[in-house]
Amino acid sequence: SVSNILISACLLGRPVRYDGKGKPLVHPAIDRWKAEGRLVAFCPEQAGGLSTPRPPAEIEGGATGEDVIEGRASVIEKTGRDVSQAFVEGGRKAVDFARAHGCAYALLIDGSPSCGSGFIYDGSFSGGRHPGLGVTAALLRRAGIEVFSDREIEALAARLAEGT
Ligand code: SF4
Repeated sequence: SVSNILISACLLGRPVRYDGKGKPLVHPAIDRWKAEGRLVAFCPEQAGGLSTPRPPAEIEGGATGEDVIEGRASVIEKTGRDVSQAFVEGGRKAVDFARAHGCAYALLIDGSPSCGSGFIYDGSFSGGRHPGLGVTAALLRRAGIEVFSDREIEALAARLAEGT
């Protein structure tokens, strides 16, 4: 059967990012999947109850989404507010949403403390980055959903060609 793809809503241009903007990914595969009706847009930070625009947030102390899920680290807004609970709740909703919509794959924007899968920022709000998963990417992967970053769209297209 043909699987759907959960996609970061901002990658489809929806104005849901912390700065109130989208970040549309322009690629022929996006147009194709859109035409096939396979793209399911979701923003875990909005689903977790955060408003838009909102202060930027990073996972503190060079930790990862896995650490946040396990309660070993927090997601902190630049203003100092702890938003870990909203991030975890949004990530759990993303898993439920993906399952409800038949998504075996997710295409998520890299670098986000929610959606990042190749890298995330280190919590210093100074541009430092390190390899690691954001909170939603980690929860989706735990749920068995294959996560690809926006920089891996070719790999996702190849995976779909072989797997479905
Ligand atoms: Fe985009 Fe994900 Fe951030 Fe929402 S949480 S704005 S979908 S990167």
